[in-house]
Amino acid sequence: MAAKAKRTGNSLSRRLRFPAEEKRLPWLPLLLDGYAVIDTGIDVAMRREEKQRGSTIACRQGCDVCCRQKDIPVYPHELVGIYWYASEQLGSGIREVVKQQLAGRQLGSPCPFLVDHACAIHPLRPASCRQFNVFTTPCAEGEDPYYSRRQDVLEPLEDYLDRAFAGVLTFYGVKDKADQARAVRTIRRQMLNLQSYDWSKLLAVMERPAAEHSVT
Ligand code: SF4
Ligand code: SF4
Repeated sequence: MAAKAKRTGNSLSRRLRFPAEEKRLPWLPLLLDGYAVIDTGIDVAMRREEKQRGSTIACRQGCDVCCRQKDIPVYPHELVGIYWYASEQLGSGIREVVKQQLAGRQLGSPCPFLVDHACAIHPLRPASCRQFNVFTTPCAEGEDPYYSRRQDVLEPLEDYLDRAFAGVLTFYGVKDKADQARAVRTIRRQMLNLQSYDWSKLLAVMERPAAEHSVT
């Protein structure tokens, strides 16, 4: 994915912080905690796999073939984060580019958040973008290695994703932790496709005056 996160010795220390916004938006700390768990899971899987293969991941900053694929999974609670970040956190220049890309979307367009080979919503990019990593060689133009060379695609550790999802159950109105596993399966069934999602509502939010952008 464009602008992969850098790896660190302790991935949870990489958990992003937006102190004022996290106080205002009760769902935001849950989402950021979940992404830190997912990033940790990716680090663990990657280190394990690199050791076994004796080679490092092929993904590099600026590599963006995967951001132009037609299937990019995204979950409803992640859309809330994307709406917030795109409407409230983007600087004016990049914001205008994203708006133009949202407005001009056509079948086969790249992800609307891909700007100059980088992810405009990188801190809030979906789990699927974080988890998609490839060994051996970078993706060729138009290639989806999930189909062309599945053996090179990093297998994410599902328990980390489940843990991250368990932390956001309140998004889905699930309060009873006793039935967490079933609730996580329910979330997984709500997967959407970022590429075919109707982004017109986000565009409408971004076109409102700044004081009215607030995502609650
Ligand atoms: S190698 Fe493929 S999966 Fe990795 S960043 Fe490049 S395009 Fe994306
Ligand atoms: S959100 Fe879009 S631009 Fe960002 S990493 Fe995912 S596919 Fe790429």
